[in-house]
Amino acid sequence: MKQALICGVSGQDGAYLAQLLLAKGYKVCGTSRDAQISSFHNLARLGIRDRVQFTSMSLTDFRSVLQVLTKVKPDEIYNLAGQSSVALSFDQPVETLESIATGTLNLLEAIRFMSSPIKFYNASSGECFGDTGDTPADETSPFRPRSPYAVAKAAAFWEVANYREAYGLFACSGILFNHESPLRPTRFVTQKIIAAARRIAGGDMEPLKLGNLAVKRDWGWAPEYVEAMYLMLQQDQPDDFVISTGQSHTLEDFVAKAFAAVGLDWRSHVEIDRTLFRPTDLAGGLGDPSKAKNKLGWQARHQMPDVVKMMV
Ligand code: NAP
Repeated sequence: MKQALICGVSGQDGAYLAQLLLAKGYKVCGTSRDAQISSFHNLARLGIRDRVQFTSMSLTDFRSVLQVLTKVKPDEIYNLAGQSSVALSFDQPVETLESIATGTLNLLEAIRFMSSPIKFYNASSGECFGDTGDTPADETSPFRPRSPYAVAKAAAFWEVANYREAYGLFACSGILFNHESPLRPTRFVTQKIIAAARRIAGGDMEPLKLGNLAVKRDWGWAPEYVEAMYLMLQQDQPDDFVISTGQSHTLEDFVAKAFAAVGLDWRSHVEIDRTLFRPTDLAGGLGDPSKAKNKLGWQARHQMPDVVKMMV
């Protein structure tokens, strides 16, 4: 039985990945900064809370990381932990950088220290590319990060590449574009929109306030994105992969579809609030997943309109 360690198991991707690995017969241990107080409600929603072991781990504390790795002895580590909001990263840039860049480095160092053949997946982000416009970014596209979050993810990406090359670690980065599900917290704009559409359809007439509706994003379905993470660690050689649908849509289109799904016209219920515009926002985010299709046999089965329907 393979042993997996999922760092950040309480989050959206952690929950779906735990579900996938349990179904594949893995023993799954998940970390949280404080496992004693975390409710792990996402795992409870998926009905798998009792099948996962939990342990506390602070990614920014090397002793804590090494202690957990020594105790759990994982075959595979999935690092999904860290400050994950682009918006919050402008208000908490140091926390964002430390939890992502120092956190990843501590995991890589601990793996190196243990000298056992642990396979490592790191959650990188399509945000690293910056504004792609309508030209899809692939694994050879340059990084032009435009938020503290993206800067931190770019640093972590190069740490992984460096440790793979310098020390021969089996370490991979998944450069994932946005992926959504009902487990997304409402501070993310997609879930904020879905929650508001449902609330307004239920009779609450408080309008939904949003920022720039012209931005375009490549939105996929989270449960199938975690399959790509797993596949990366089953290859003979470690490598980096862009994971995306290959199609982008405007935020306005997402809003229109969400309100239409509950029988409403969004234009009667949405107000533009300029305070919600970000200091630097990406006009477009679009990924080219061809390498994942060719080498992993992975392809997104759901595009944005399906994602909206399933979230509603
Ligand atoms: P998420 O729901 O926010 O989960 C991330 C987990 O990390 C949280 O459950 C939390 O666990 C832990 N965490 C939060 N803030 C932290 C901090 N400051 N320091 C240390 N740990 C912290 O994120 P997700 O959507 O599942 O995404 C998983 C990973 O993929 C993240 O690294 C994210 O940045 C990356 N990613 C996500 C997307 C997407 O569209 N979802 C796209 C590209 C990349 P505890 O509170 O239990 O410690």
